[in-house]
Amino acid sequence: MQKWVVANWKMNGSKNLLEEYKNAFKKSNNLIVCAPFTYLNETAELVFGAQNIYHEAKGAFTGEISAQMVSEFNIKYCLVGHSERRQYFGERNDIVRKKAELCIENGIIPIICMGETLEQYEAGKTQEVLELQLRECIPGKNNFWIAYEPVWAIGTGKTPTIEEIRSVHLMLREKLEKTVLLYGGSVNASNAEAIFGIANVDGALIGGASLDLAAISAIYSLASG
Ligand code: PEP
Repeated sequence: MQKWVVANWKMNGSKNLLEEYKNAFKKSNNLIVCAPFTYLNETAELVFGAQNIYHEAKGAFTGEISAQMVSEFNIKYCLVGHSERRQYFGERNDIVRKKAELCIENGIIPIICMGETLEQYEAGKTQEVLELQLRECIPGKNNFWIAYEPVWAIGTGKTPTIEEIRSVHLMLREKLEKTVLLYGGSVNASNAEAIFGIANVDGALIGGASLDLAAISAIYSLASG
């Protein structure tokens, strides 16, 4: 079955990488490229997502970008609540929820990121943390996706076991019957097949490996196979 591949370039990439993506993934409809704002455009060649929007609709917030502005460029997806936003920009669950609501009001599907820290993982609190994040982050209206991203797995080369991912995604599926559920955290060309094979994993959110065309192409073919 076809899976979603969501590439999160973070503050990386270049016009050159954009061109490489356009050549490699022209008209792919299960690949979403969350590139920095300067690279988002209305090209029909790639499906883009934003990495962030501001949590107010408009106003005197110099340097920020609103959901409505993003939607005017026909961008249909936006990451919200990524752990780097939480860690470096102090985003709390209530802000994440506001962002998700603004996305939905503007016709953008928010990809809401959540996951436990290493300390919480080691204390066996993963499900408890996720239940709280679900209660506090998810918007009233339905059109959102969830990315389960253990904070300790992002950019570290470490991942939970297949069984651990399976059990978190089962818990999420029981609560969110029709929601697209992604796994993110050190997905690469070697582990993608096993991760895509887990029940209730509808796709993957990919950081580091999305900057390497060979790696993301390999992951994409496993997702599309
Ligand atoms: C991410 O930033 O969402 C991510 C999953 O990063 P990485 O794939 O590098 O762990």
